[in-house]
Amino acid sequence: MIIKPRTIPRTLLQYQALEHRIPADHPKMPLIQENIRKGLAGYKGECALDYPLSFLPEKKYSILHDVRLQVDGHFFQIDSILLSEMFILLIDAKYMAGKLYFDVRFNQLIQTVDGEEKAYSDPLLQKRYHEEQFNKWLIKNKLPAAPILSLVVVSNSYTIIQTASENRDLHQNVIHHEYLPFKIKEFEEKLTKPFLTEKERRKLGQQLIKQHTTPDYPILEKLQISQSELLKGVYCPNCGRLPMKRDYGKWTCPYCQHINKDAHVLSLKDYELLIGPTITNREMQDFLRCPSESICKKLLRNMELQSMGENKGRVYVLPQNEIVFL
Ligand SMILES: [Zn+2]
Repeated sequence: MIIKPRTIPRTLLQYQALEHRIPADHPKMPLIQENIRKGLAGYKGECALDYPLSFLPEKKYSILHDVRLQVDGHFFQIDSILLSEMFILLIDAKYMAGKLYFDVRFNQLIQTVDGEEKAYSDPLLQKRYHEEQFNKWLIKNKLPAAPILSLVVVSNSYTIIQTASENRDLHQNVIHHEYLPFKIKEFEEKLTKPFLTEKERRKLGQQLIKQHTTPDYPILEKLQISQSELLKGVYCPNCGRLPMKRDYGKWTCPYCQHINKDAHVLSLKDYELLIGPTITNREMQDFLRCPSESICKKLLRNMELQSMGENKGRVYVLPQNEIVFL
């Protein structure tokens, strides 16, 4: 069963928030859009694992998605981890179109799409690194030595996987996602000796969840964009433009006439993703171009946020979880 579900990567949400908070002709816009494209492809690749993984018997496996662990001061992130009592399988999902050539001699991956070649770092090297790091993590946590297996799973059905003829065992390491249940069956046939009890497997799953950390990515600092460059106001959830107007207790879009009562919630999410986890009434008035202190106070109160301090010094804690817009 899935014990840690997948969520949209926070860095992808940050880039998406930034895209509608800077002018279209901003010099960093192409980089932001490229990172969104990459982030979405990565996320799509991870989601494509759900279907083949749904064939596995629920009771035999604990499945964890998006796990980021730390060992010896280094972080490593694994798309999916499968825990069984016989082995641990680490999965790296790749959603890449066209032709993928695994150049094992120079440790690079060459993708060809529409006659254009692009080189990427070698997923096979990363796979080895993940196995080593995971093993170190087990040792650090005083857990029993485990057979650690890993796979690079190409989750785009039409992608062609190639390598040089001397590299005959590539299919042991790289597979299409449709083949995943059969590959797991192969592992089950080879590895029959348990290294954990069922109880220990559950405990290991909980330990992984506990030690998982979300990356802290100060996006404005990383891209050298200052807060003053951000576009202010509540953006329209219908057409994406800024700013909406506050009238009669509702937000109205002057461009598409969309009316929304809760549009400020999404814009406060932008604040949390781009600027920080807390906001004062004054900061909200400025960021959302909110007409008055009393309106902001009312909106914040209705969101039932945790707060600290009193009066003008009161700071409200913005939730980090994904806000589902109604
Ligand atoms: Zn609109």
